[in-house]
Amino acid sequence: MPSYKVAIVGAGPAGYFAAQALQNLQSDSLTFTIDMIERLPTPWGLVRSGVAPDHPKIKTVSKVFEKIATAGNFRLFGNVELGTDISIEQLKDLYDAVVIATGSNVGKKLGIPGEDLPGSISAADFVPWYNAHPDFHGVDIALDCDTAIVIGAGNVAMDVARMLALEPAELEPTDTADHALAAFQKSAIRKVVISARRGPENAAFTSPELRELPKLEHTNVIISKTDIEAAQDRVGTDIEKDVKSNLDAMALISQQIETTHERTLVFQFLSTPLEIKGNTRVEEVIFNRTGTEETFSIKCGLVITAIGYEATSIPGIPYANGKVVNDLGKVEENMYVVGWAKRGPSGVIGTNKSDAAEVMKLLVSNLNSPKDNGDITTLLSSKVHISQEKWEAINAAEVAAGEPLGKPRRKAVTREELLGLGGV
Ligand code: NAP
Repeated sequence: MPSYKVAIVGAGPAGYFAAQALQNLQSDSLTFTIDMIERLPTPWGLVRSGVAPDHPKIKTVSKVFEKIATAGNFRLFGNVELGTDISIEQLKDLYDAVVIATGSNVGKKLGIPGEDLPGSISAADFVPWYNAHPDFHGVDIALDCDTAIVIGAGNVAMDVARMLALEPAELEPTDTADHALAAFQKSAIRKVVISARRGPENAAFTSPELRELPKLEHTNVIISKTDIEAAQDRVGTDIEKDVKSNLDAMALISQQIETTHERTLVFQFLSTPLEIKGNTRVEEVIFNRTGTEETFSIKCGLVITAIGYEATSIPGIPYANGKVVNDLGKVEENMYVVGWAKRGPSGVIGTNKSDAAEVMKLLVSNLNSPKDNGDITTLLSSKVHISQEKWEAINAAEVAAGEPLGKPRRKAVTREELLGLGGV
């Protein structure tokens, strides 16, 4: 019975769903051994370092990942980086197929003057900072000012704005990184402006995220009724279901009675950022009222851009437009790509399931005779790696540390701490 070796690079949702698809494609006449390679000592990708800490339900998909990891013929090789510890050529040599599932982690730039001033950062740095990603704990976030502007109208912008505008006590029972929780407790930010270059009808938010905003107990959420009515006029009655649902959710918020909470989250539409100004740090953002000649300015000390992501290039893999060059997931003979590295930063976690399943069917249809020449273990003689067993030790230690604090887990932050919890 042919048994094929598949290496999946990247332990995020797309990588796990690719593994699951391969497991589901197994039969009496076809089996796989799956080696998942991950540069961090921890798996789960954006479920650990992207999903907002106040959205614990979204993170329950990690249970599915753990089931895949323990279903047999699956090994985790955490703390192993493709391009540094091993090369794509080595993997291609050893495995019948290599699946790239490395996502996209670099924040897109606005390309406007002042974007590199201190106080202007990307969500690609802020989000992993509050989620205890080991590479981001030292990021300096200017929380010593009254007003922050978040640029972008997608769910990442919404997460970022909500995290800045929440009463920090609401984050105490979450797995927010200790350093971030401490910084939020000291934060002077009381007004967060979430700024979209187009109108409410074109916003990329999804309606469940909008509908949870009125439930924030300590934050005024403000959307102008005039903005929503103008958007409703522009779109008329023949509109897509998602757009209608979003506009309905925003209309509900716009009808809310303003409270006396000291924290405010304000939505601003039809505002194109032209320039970020300041002497030694961010002091204001100049906007153009989209579609007009009008400009206006908002004073602020922190700007966070959440306008999409691009993939980081790994040597030996072809990239264009921030993605791996591919045809329906096939990169070249025996190399495939799934998830955001394949299609760009779009869709929710579940989108990766059907996407990976299609690509894995293609992979299986192109398999040749199985290789019989070793695997990644022959390349890792001196490199400490995190196996599934060691990851389970890290996971259990974090969950145990969180328990007395009423948190789902208390995340370790540095690589050293994580490796220590894994017993290496
Ligand atoms: P996104 O949904 O593509 O939104 C990007 C936003 O940035 C859009 O509003 C876009 O506006 C704006 N933008 C792009 N270039 C810009 C520029 N130069 N100037 C001003 N604005 C600009 O991306 P995302 O928010 O990064 O989210 C990525 C994916 O993850 C999405 O599919 C999202 O739904 C998903 N996600 C889901 C959740 C959740 O389910 N809770 C949480 C986080 C992320 P235009 O439309 O005008 O281009």
